[in-house]
Amino acid sequence: MVLDDLGSSLRGTLDKLRGKSRLSEEDIEEIVKEIQRSLLSADVDVSLVMELSDNIKERALEEEPPAGTPARDFVLRIVYEELVDLIGDSTELPLEEQTILLAGLQGSGKTTSAAKMAWWFSTKGLRPAVIQTDTFRPGAYDQAEEMAERAEVEFYGDPDSEDPVEIAREGLEETSEVDVHIVDTAGRHALEDDLIDEIEQIEGVVEPDTSLLVLDAAIGQGAKEQAQQFDESIGIDGVVITKLDGTAKGGGALTAVDQTDSSIAFLGTGEEVQDIERFEPDGFISRLLGMGDLSQLAERVERAMEQTEMEEDDWDPEDMLQGQFTLNDMQKQMEAMNNMGPLDQVMDMIPGLGGGIKDQLPDDAMDVTQERMRTFSVIMDSMTDAEKEYPKAIGASQIQRIARGSGTSEEEVRELLQQYKMMERTIKQFQGMGSEKEMQRMMQ
Ligand code: GDP
Repeated sequence: MVLDDLGSSLRGTLDKLRGKSRLSEEDIEEIVKEIQRSLLSADVDVSLVMELSDNIKERALEEEPPAGTPARDFVLRIVYEELVDLIGDSTELPLEEQTILLAGLQGSGKTTSAAKMAWWFSTKGLRPAVIQTDTFRPGAYDQAEEMAERAEVEFYGDPDSEDPVEIAREGLEETSEVDVHIVDTAGRHALEDDLIDEIEQIEGVVEPDTSLLVLDAAIGQGAKEQAQQFDESIGIDGVVITKLDGTAKGGGALTAVDQTDSSIAFLGTGEEVQDIERFEPDGFISRLLGMGDLSQLAERVERAMEQTEMEEDDWDPEDMLQGQFTLNDMQKQMEAMNNMGPLDQVMDMIPGLGGGIKDQLPDDAMDVTQERMRTFSVIMDSMTDAEKEYPKAIGASQIQRIARGSGTSEEEVRELLQQYKMMERTIKQFQGMGSEKEMQRMMQ
């Protein structure tokens, strides 16, 4: 997650303010230093860090907290507002006919993002096509075609042509029936002149409605120059940050957004075509600051529902907060979570859970790997309904029977029961915390 470090260190500093009603100048200094330290270590550009921290400091010193507002909430709100201001709205992408051009260095994730974005538009009821114009990188054509197939979207490319501009022109003609054209371009290792020439020519032919710069989240300080060059040549409207699953940094991408005076369009969070999220600034910053984000959770759950073909009434994440947690629930929820991503990511999106109790839980509580889920599922199939409803009544003889029946070991059955207990405890802990009221209270 981008700027993960900011979230946790800031929470640590802010927690020290608990119980205080007034902020001293030293308190503010300490908070501002903490913010600077984590932004710099996340590779955010120095001048940007200074600007942001100066604004926070000035406001924290000058503004009067409304009566009764704890100091911690007051600072949190200022930090939140300043970050919202820095990051801005997400890049506008209307759900209608349009052409999008992708630019970026080789390996930044353009080809993957093209297919992901096409998939995303297809989930919104539009008909997208990916046009692959990369004649430079061997294998680019095959990779793009395969990814478009996985995304179940249309694809155009020409492995025999060496003229990317011609491919772009033909691609648009051949796919004239579709709603959304996503044009992928070649990358190169560095910003060579011929790369810039080529993309300018493609831009001239494609006349995109939106040009997006694709950036690896780990890019660091190099982002500034790249962003500047691409912006000068084709005009960058937004940024796609990829590989957020692999880094806790991502500050370079923020620098690029600032440099191009643009915004973030999408976040890439994995190698599969579904591993993409539309950027939502409010939710993003809430998550960053550990406030949770219910709308993202809802979107993921909805997707998981579709995939597991469950009725909406059958499984609702809110159930997790209601306390009726049996092994039957665990089985259903494991299936759904399997599609939503790891439990700790899901928990990040529940208000009030962000940093607090999640950090205090044993790592094992989150560690339900797919492999274990499969074994657990087989074990649960060998249990009676009564056992699943009252797992606490399962004793040694039942464990023996269940292990035999499911072809697993008694140890594995015990592991499942252990996992269940941990999940039950976790869920008990966040009952009452995960309400929308909690979030509103924090934001007041
Ligand atoms: P391109 O050269 O810019 O077209 O980059 P590719 O789309 O080929 O991506 C380069 C590598 O990064 C590939 O191995 C992708 O699978 C991987 N990749 C792209 N996006 C993501 C992402 O969001 N997360 C992870 N983990 N890998 C990604």
